Amino acid sequence: MATERAKWLVVGGGIAGVTCAEQLALQFMEDDVFLLTASPLIKAATNVRQVLRTLEEFDVEEKESSILERQYPNIRVISSAVREIKAEQQQVITEDGRRYTYDRLCLCAGARPKLINDGNPYVLGIRDTDSAKTFQCRLAKAKRVVIVGNGGIALELVYEIEGCEVIWAVKDKSIGNTFFDAGAAQFLIPQLSSDKAETPLACKRTKYTTELLSERKEPCLGSALGPDWHEGMNLKAAKEFSHCVHLEMECEVQRVLLSDEFKQLNVPAHTVPHRIAPEHSATSGIVEWPVYVELTNGKLYGCDFIISATGVVPNVEPFLPGNNFDVGEDGGLKVDDHMRTSVPNVYAAGDICTAAWTPSSLWQQMRLWTQARQMGWYAAKCMVADHLGEKIEMDFCFELFAHVTKFFNYKVILLGKYNAQGLALDHELMLRCTKGHEYVKVVMQNGRMVGAVLIGETDLEETFENLILNQMDLSAYGVNLLDPNIDIEDYFD
Ligand code: FAD
Repeated sequence: MATERAKWLVVGGGIAGVTCAEQLALQFMEDDVFLLTASPLIKAATNVRQVLRTLEEFDVEEKESSILERQYPNIRVISSAVREIKAEQQQVITEDGRRYTYDRLCLCAGARPKLINDGNPYVLGIRDTDSAKTFQCRLAKAKRVVIVGNGGIALELVYEIEGCEVIWAVKDKSIGNTFFDAGAAQFLIPQLSSDKAETPLACKRTKYTTELLSERKEPCLGSALGPDWHEGMNLKAAKEFSHCVHLEMECEVQRVLLSDEFKQLNVPAHTVPHRIAPEHSATSGIVEWPVYVELTNGKLYGCDFIISATGVVPNVEPFLPGNNFDVGEDGGLKVDDHMRTSVPNVYAAGDICTAAWTPSSLWQQMRLWTQARQMGWYAAKCMVADHLGEKIEMDFCFELFAHVTKFFNYKVILLGKYNAQGLALDHELMLRCTKGHEYVKVVMQNGRMVGAVLIGETDLEETFENLILNQMDLSAYGVNLLDPNIDIEDYFD
């Protein structure tokens, strides 16, 4: 097959790849931009809204690639996974044998779930639309599931699943510690035993289309789900009740046993305080489950299936053989402050990469939707600048970590070192909490605000972003900083 020349080549049709391709296409309207992707549909950010100086909110639409090509006539989408890169020849080879030479290449192939027991049919990971649909089908018939993990996906799932017992195995001392501390966890936990609000608070992101994929039969390496992936998905199991979550803290999965393996152990399984139909109460020990989970705290639970939400592994495998990529401890391709990998003319952005530059003291990498977009956009800018021999400053969005999301139906905004990540012991925390209404935590160091967690409709995000960015000395204000009777915005105007 003939080799095609692609001056600009982007791999991956997720939010990082598409943003990068769009930006390149806008900058060089006379050049073709090639987008190679394993998934038949691409993801694009729409309705971008600036929430803060460092934070955008947007909807994500899954589209046919032809829509992107119509919108950007110089983008060519090729639906085929990349099998190999021959970096010395600046060449990419796809699964279907096509070859492309590139001047500059950006790898945005995302990441996949890190499963606790890969290959076990009762262990599911949720990553893309296909895996979400499999999960939905299995859940419809389930009476009990075990969720393993303590990140965003686990948090969303325990809250969203209804009509099914959930056993949630968390390795840490408090829930959600990727996003917040024990205090915030205590604030949120009551939501797990209350019925869901009839009218949900504003959705964290509003549009996410999945119906196009439901027609498709063959599996593929799809893009990661993202904003509101569960909106519009029925996460109801067989029974009629809201939450029934049993927490197992500070434990991990020791092993997963199939039903026959469990029988050979000849020990009873543990039971949980139940709310489901008597025949499934499991108190008599007669209920047989298809799979059992043994936890490191010695407990053994039967369930219909296990959801492994224990982080992701960057999709780097096809690109490594024969090439000199530096790989980070988390398995991502290391990139410098120009989003360049260690291989000449190869950049990377989004979940696949590991930020290996010296970051601003208020920013950290997290594999999040917003960062995938920021990195894709900035990588394109850097590719262009390097091509033109121009200088480029690190984008402002990398000055301050900022993330908006929704957990347990509360709006959650995280700023800077919101969990005192990497700070010396001299930092202080200030708290303000009104049960069921809001939780505000600020992280202070040397009288300066360096991070904040805002849960609920606090309206403090803009002021706090400014205070963190300008590093004003706030020592004089002391605890008044969080006094609910003081209009803090006026204070610092
Ligand atoms: P992806 O979206 O994974 O896209 C990778 C693309 O590369 C895909 O198109 C894939 O087909 C393609 N690809 C892979 N391998 C190859 C190959 N060899 N050749 C060619 N193409 C290839 N983030 C948030 O900020 N907020 C949330 O609430 C949130 N919720 C989430 C919920 C779930 C269930 C999941 C799974 C993730 C969630 N995330 C969330 C994370 C967020 O979705 C990711 O950080 C983001 O989608 C990463 O974008 P990406 O473009 O780097 O990768």
